[in-house]
Amino acid sequence: MSTETRTTCPYCGVGCGVIAKIDDTGAVSVKGDPDHPANFGRLCSKGSALAETIDLDGRVLHPQINGERANWDEALDLVAARFSQTIAEHGPDSVAFYVSGQLLTEDYYIANKLMKGFIGSANIDTNSRLCMSSSVAGHKRAFGADTVPGTYEDIERADLVILTGSNLAWCHPVIYQRLAAAKAARPSMKVVVIDPRRTMTADIADLHLAIRPDGDVALFMGLLAHLAGTAAIDQNYIGTHTNGFAEAFASASALSIADLMELTGLPSMQLRQFFRLFEETEKVVTCYSQGVNQSASGTDKVNAIINCHLATSRIGRPGMGPFSLTGQPNAMGGREVGGLANMLAAHMAIENPEDCDRVQRFWQSPDIARKPGLKAVDMFRAVADGRIKALWIMATNPVVSMPDADAVAAAIAACPFVVVSDVLQETDTTQYAHVLLPSLGWGEKDGTVTNSERRISRQRAFLKAPGEAKADWWQMAEVGRRMGFAGEFSFPSAADVFAEHAGLSAFENNGSRDFDIGAHRQIDADAYDALTPFQWPQSENTQAQITRFFGEGGFFHADRKARFIAVEVPVSDRTSTDFPLTLNTGRIRDQWHTMTRTGKSARLSAHIAEPFAEIHPRDAMEIGVASAGLVEIESPYGKAVVRALVTDRQARGSLFVPMHWNDQFAAKARIDAVVAPLTDPISGQPASKNVAVAARPL
Ligand code: SF4
Repeated sequence: MSTETRTTCPYCGVGCGVIAKIDDTGAVSVKGDPDHPANFGRLCSKGSALAETIDLDGRVLHPQINGERANWDEALDLVAARFSQTIAEHGPDSVAFYVSGQLLTEDYYIANKLMKGFIGSANIDTNSRLCMSSSVAGHKRAFGADTVPGTYEDIERADLVILTGSNLAWCHPVIYQRLAAAKAARPSMKVVVIDPRRTMTADIADLHLAIRPDGDVALFMGLLAHLAGTAAIDQNYIGTHTNGFAEAFASASALSIADLMELTGLPSMQLRQFFRLFEETEKVVTCYSQGVNQSASGTDKVNAIINCHLATSRIGRPGMGPFSLTGQPNAMGGREVGGLANMLAAHMAIENPEDCDRVQRFWQSPDIARKPGLKAVDMFRAVADGRIKALWIMATNPVVSMPDADAVAAAIAACPFVVVSDVLQETDTTQYAHVLLPSLGWGEKDGTVTNSERRISRQRAFLKAPGEAKADWWQMAEVGRRMGFAGEFSFPSAADVFAEHAGLSAFENNGSRDFDIGAHRQIDADAYDALTPFQWPQSENTQAQITRFFGEGGFFHADRKARFIAVEVPVSDRTSTDFPLTLNTGRIRDQWHTMTRTGKSARLSAHIAEPFAEIHPRDAMEIGVASAGLVEIESPYGKAVVRALVTDRQARGSLFVPMHWNDQFAAKARIDAVVAPLTDPISGQPASKNVAVAARPL
């Protein structure tokens, strides 16, 4: 008899609903869930190929210690003993967890509880640091909390959609499909794409602004200064609901049109056209993604965008608002439980002693971290210099994905004790594991994820756990129990973890915190199984669900007002005589992260079979690189070799290389070995879009 299970796609932050069917022969097929509010039945190529990636080839099926098969008790006892011993000898900050936006919220919750509440360190960071931490920092500065104000529906209802630093067509394809359908139904809708590259997304644009790398801060400063002199400015909203406009305006208005042209690389006609479009269109949504976040000025970019929406009160109303498009399937869920080194839990602040006390009261924990831990780049530096002596890596492949990846590999290789939890036996990272723990994959694990519009959906198991694989939350809870916290880490199921997470979100929450899902704090196994997608907040006492924030103020700073931020023009040109080109890394349509799952699908790999560098024809000619020839890309940190794709979609003086390939799929193609470990000073997010490199034919 065939069965159907409603679940959620494990790839991007759109969070599409999927119906997985197992037929009489045991074959699995997938289709979009027509009732899921994120996708209404749509799937992109990656989601459609999910059934092709769930075979057991290459899976790790049993715990291993130093490459030898072990049983769970042996492996977990060893992990608990080595972490406890390291903490006893060197203190709680000598250990660290590096986790992932691929984890489910329940996994993230246990990881954060164990590290911050019971080990007493905040050394837990996540690959979401590489994804959206600049948006988190920008939200917190402007709104007082990490709150996404709007919904996907706003993108469809807007009259002007600005896509900045977002190749939506390839990176959030179902949102792109929704946008394209809305524009086809209502051709008066305008789309502006701001991107140095002419991506596939630019094909839908009424206006493509081929901006200089990191020119966005100046562009939105110029827009703010322009708006201030027009009827679009909302003085009433500014006066009633915000602080700091005068300072932000003073900083923005210091730039002349000549400055803006220089800083953005855009002609004055395009600048004025963009400014007028924004001025004259009330319903504006500005979507931004990694081109904004992955920058040494990422947080300022986010705030420069938010400043313009606050100044015009175009926020939290239908068809209006700044909108952060999250990269990963559960970066948002991780944020909600405090999965970043500088956050606490349930959107509480680690710098706030009252929040720390509250979380400690709720957890009844012996300790609580009261200062931020090490963010990803600094965490691996601390591994390299020996400050961190025990490291647990979960559901991520930092030897491929971290900037300065060769140095990260060397750091992990030299770390005295490394635990890796993964679904695969052989990745670039698992080779360094002293203890390798088999995790459940998509279709095998149970839990929740949160998408870019604050919508919490279930991922449900429909396949039997292979071998001895176990849920990530279970692994960490078992280690917590073995470290002496048996009572606090006794969770019979993922539903119990979710209930505690919901309880913490509501604990002593009088509405001063944005994240509250207290309506689910007593959820039982049946209700958890039946849980349908919902947007947070959903507090115990609220009858009507809040779908948008801030249309009438109500921010989360103590005075309930938003903050304009007086942003500064960043350094944008990082090139030099030796490294004269600007490297921009990113995704392609049919691969995900380091290809450990999507690389299994021949259909997906047929889209683009090899790693490549997009290069402008004149640059190719000057360097002497032929189309389809091999090109070596070098920075002071490392080298990579890829095939040249000569195209005038790429701006002069720049290269685009996808982030996915690793040594298993193409030798010497790990582009993150070339990326500098330069980070945004506020968010700690690496600047993966603006790296000075040299290129030469091979
Ligand atoms: Fe999955 Fe994202 Fe594609 Fe939706 S758009 S099917 S969530 S990869």
